[in-house]
Amino acid sequence: MYKKLCFRLTALCLGVLGIAIFMTNSSIKTTVNAEVAANPLLSKWEGPYGGVPPFDKVKIADFKPAFEAAMAENLAEIDKIANNPAPATFENTIVAMEKAGHTLDRVSTIYGIWSGSMSNAEVQAVETEMSPKLAAFGDKISQNAALFKRIETVYNAASTKKLTAEQQRLAWLNYTNFVRAGAKLGAEQKQRLSAINQKLAGLFTKFSQNLLADETGPYVTLETEADLAGLSKSLRDSTAQAATAKGVKASGIIRNTRSSVDPFLTYSDRRDLREKVWKMFVNRGDNGDSHDNNAGITQILQLRAERAKLLGFATHAHWRLEPQMAKVPENAMKLMEGVWPAAVARVKEEVADMQALANKEGTKIKIEPWDYRYYMEKVRKERYDLDQNEVKPYLQLDKIREAMFWVAGELFDFSFKQVTNVPVYQADVTVYEVKNKKTGKHVGLWYFDPYARDGKRSGAWMNAYRSQERVAGDITTIVSNNSNFVKGKPGEAVLISWDDATIMFHEFGHALHGLSSNVTYPTVSGTNVARDYVEFPSQLLEHWVSTPEVLQKFMLHYETGKPIPQALVDKIEKASKFNQGFATVEYLSSALVDMKLHLAGDKKIDPDAFEKQTLADLGMPSEIVMRHRTPQFGHVFSSDGYSAGYYSYLWSDVLTADSFGAFIEGKGPYDKAVATKLTKYIFSVGNTIDPAEAYRNFRGRDPNVDALMIKRGFPVKK
Ligand SMILES: [Zn+2]
Repeated sequence: MYKKLCFRLTALCLGVLGIAIFMTNSSIKTTVNAEVAANPLLSKWEGPYGGVPPFDKVKIADFKPAFEAAMAENLAEIDKIANNPAPATFENTIVAMEKAGHTLDRVSTIYGIWSGSMSNAEVQAVETEMSPKLAAFGDKISQNAALFKRIETVYNAASTKKLTAEQQRLAWLNYTNFVRAGAKLGAEQKQRLSAINQKLAGLFTKFSQNLLADETGPYVTLETEADLAGLSKSLRDSTAQAATAKGVKASGIIRNTRSSVDPFLTYSDRRDLREKVWKMFVNRGDNGDSHDNNAGITQILQLRAERAKLLGFATHAHWRLEPQMAKVPENAMKLMEGVWPAAVARVKEEVADMQALANKEGTKIKIEPWDYRYYMEKVRKERYDLDQNEVKPYLQLDKIREAMFWVAGELFDFSFKQVTNVPVYQADVTVYEVKNKKTGKHVGLWYFDPYARDGKRSGAWMNAYRSQERVAGDITTIVSNNSNFVKGKPGEAVLISWDDATIMFHEFGHALHGLSSNVTYPTVSGTNVARDYVEFPSQLLEHWVSTPEVLQKFMLHYETGKPIPQALVDKIEKASKFNQGFATVEYLSSALVDMKLHLAGDKKIDPDAFEKQTLADLGMPSEIVMRHRTPQFGHVFSSDGYSAGYYSYLWSDVLTADSFGAFIEGKGPYDKAVATKLTKYIFSVGNTIDPAEAYRNFRGRDPNVDALMIKRGFPVKK
């Protein structure tokens, strides 16, 4: 399943700033003037659980001065480390860096939330001004020659070989990250590199703001009863709710976000409106107006290509892939191209089924992209007698959340209890304390921000507000899950789809990865792992949605409280591989275009033309559009985060599919012994070990790609 967006997870994307590696903790006191001292963003987090973010004290006007003070403090810390007269040691260099940047880390965390979930014109003005400055700041550290010399000395020292495995990996990681960021370049090249990074930071910000504008501005109005044809009561309610929230007088509106658009495309009988909504959605960032992203993308691609060359790599893709499990683009391409033909072949079958159904109904149409979800649903009904509307009443948001907690209790020994003694940034956000249910020990906090609103980017993601570590004391983690469900009427259950429930488990998998962390150093903590590995724990957790225990205990009808009938479960099970052609092709086409854009080198690229040509060469079925078209591909163009990295979901899914086999070969999904191994070797180790080795420790062998093909119902090559 590839329906999730996990981008901008500060921990995963190294987010907003892309410099998280330099932003860890500080114990060094710096003198600050009175004005700065009064800025609550700079204060140590006070309150229970080792301190919590002061969301009740945030003023947007404080961000800029807070950043400036925090950057100055961090630079002073770094200078002190770099200019230490004592010979470089692991302790006075690497560990000292782990202890630096605490204040900047705190400011960035809160800023990241405002930029992603609480945005407005005032926040955007701060982003526009600060993002190039933050990029320049990151370069100032990675280009600090004295600092790099010390890191290099420690990395090469014989004494380092005697350190713990985690310490050796941290030394290697520091060295590698600095080299990758240009530490070995000459002065002129460094200057150019920094100029490129600043320019890119500005372009990323503009890209995100354009996309947000196109997702929050346009909408399609549903005026009459006829416009609502085919929509269920709950869908009608939510479109009406969306209209009210927007202050529009109409029966309902379809917002330009996936959670609003997809259900409409699935159920609306109005083909003309489906086409209108579909076109609005797939043209985000591509309307030739002031929010058009094409010119920005052309610049981003050229700058990335130039930067890769400066750093000694053939292309941006080669530079990005080097620290990943895949190592080189060829390995990622091989996997994608291996799966692609089976997925396209399956789409042809799916389209033939849909066309046959349309013909039978007597509608003389050819299946178009705005028909796919609609007819797919009809085929599902006909073939499996499975109506998603029949399933939805059993999927209450609150109950699914309880199901996740219960699964976490079974697999990870975690307990969750809501707490109200900490500030939140928005009234809908709830907070839970996580404990080890056996020892009662505090594990961390989990913040949950479930609903869509203006100023919040679309999709679902996980965020780490604070990393687990033991350098500056026994620091526990704070993580959050964010999604965009349409808020229901007060007191009424929010019903979600099966896919939504799966996405919730996915993001919760990221949260559990963070919460399970048991390492010493923040840089290698929790979800700070290779991009093509980080989706493995999250995708693995998706498998527990359909376990009998979850179905029986938590999928309860919102009116009767009765569990979902077994007959319906059987139908869901039978239909589980249905539509994998569509899901795989819409994802994989995006991943292939992403990789090819970044393999193309420094030629000037027209994004629309490149996308069109690439899809034609691939033999893209005309009935499907990429899940993220280039002008709206936030994963790839709102930061370097998932650039040349969207393949990561597939790469990780090879591990996911193969590792779930360990439970099946054991006593099933709740096999305690396998779960214990999973925590020990995968969820708790962060980036303290090479991921391929971690996987072998868990599974006793390398992953086998067949499990992925079987999971999707594709034929396995002999
Ligand atoms: Zn994810």
